Amino acid sequence: MALSSSSPYQWMQQSLAALQRAHRYRTVQVAQGRAGTVMIREGQPLINFASNDYLGLAGDPRLAAAAIEAIETYGTGSTGSRLLSGHRDLHQALERALATLKHTEDALVFSSGYLANLSTIAALVGPPDLILSDEYNHSSLRSGAKVSGATTYDYRHGDVAHLEQYLATYRAQHRRCLITTDSVFSMDGDLCPLPDILNLAEQYEAMVLVDEAHGTGVLGQRGAGAVEHLGCLGRPMITVGTLSKAMGSLGGYVAGSQGLIDFLRNRAPGWIYTTGLSPADTAAALAAVRIVAEEPQRRQALWHHVAQLKRRLDDLLEQGRGDHMLQRLPSESPIICLAGHSVSQIMVASQQLQNAGLWVAAVRPPTVLTSRLRITLMATHTPDHLDQLVAGLTNLRLKR
Ligand code: PMP
Repeated sequence: MALSSSSPYQWMQQSLAALQRAHRYRTVQVAQGRAGTVMIREGQPLINFASNDYLGLAGDPRLAAAAIEAIETYGTGSTGSRLLSGHRDLHQALERALATLKHTEDALVFSSGYLANLSTIAALVGPPDLILSDEYNHSSLRSGAKVSGATTYDYRHGDVAHLEQYLATYRAQHRRCLITTDSVFSMDGDLCPLPDILNLAEQYEAMVLVDEAHGTGVLGQRGAGAVEHLGCLGRPMITVGTLSKAMGSLGGYVAGSQGLIDFLRNRAPGWIYTTGLSPADTAAALAAVRIVAEEPQRRQALWHHVAQLKRRLDDLLEQGRGDHMLQRLPSESPIICLAGHSVSQIMVASQQLQNAGLWVAAVRPPTVLTSRLRITLMATHTPDHLDQLVAGLTNLRLKR
């Protein structure tokens, strides 16, 4: 076969051009100032409805103070993997606090939620095994399934009957089975049917891994997450989460039985062969876990905003004010999405909102099938922030 003389890197330009043609090309914009409900982007102050900082802790002075103290005490880096030089008493304290929050025997902190999902799944199952995954699961759960080499089937979103059909058809052909699901779906805002999933898992001898990235700190009376909200605390399962959303820091974790955590410490390459979480991130997360437990009023404020905004959006869409073509997707969380009919419509809507001083994310394929505005609420938003959002949505002018 004759080789062409073009550069072996040329294909990237073609691939980027294809993304641009499909309106899928992504760029980043710099946000300035401390994390909070109002941020400056490209010189313009915007009310922030695009962050995952649900409790408003990323800019909280107590987290900053904890991080600064940790840097002064320990330095900036962890200097090694946890099994070598990188294990500090802060890591131990954070893992204990997370296990207490989650009502589990133990917990293990990873460098990110993405890595926690990926390496946990790949450690628990392999080529002889079966993964059944909700079709809307986060990318990290999908990557974990791929890396594991297990046979993987996606069941229809939230569809327990479809999950059962897969279990009945395939479970017996495999050594182990792992069901994976987000608890709060990050791009929709709805919840997984966890009690039914756990019942099926018991019946078919399957493990369940639930990703509480968007549930922790937000759902449940104590902020333990959707597992608490749905009455499933204490049932056997593997809980994964992130410290980067409601916890306002960085890092991920797995919570579960002593055996699970021991196993991961010995068999999860994404924990064994990577540097321990930095002292600053660990200390900030530890401060956040304490605030989650001690300040339920933050959750109450957040849920008040959620109820208000849902009601006002439904009024707006029903009365035909604003733009009818948007449709509110079912949500049981502070993630509230308005679906549109095309990528370009949603991009225009997001731009019009930005012109009105509102930062609302436009989420489009391949992240989701249907393009949408993704509004996320924070405990620290004010009634005026919500008024301005509703006004901005009312004034949208979109073409069909
Ligand atoms: N799971 C879900 C559902 C997420 O939304 C995210 C973050 N987008 C992650 C996992 C990954 O967490 P992290 O940002 O800590 O890597």
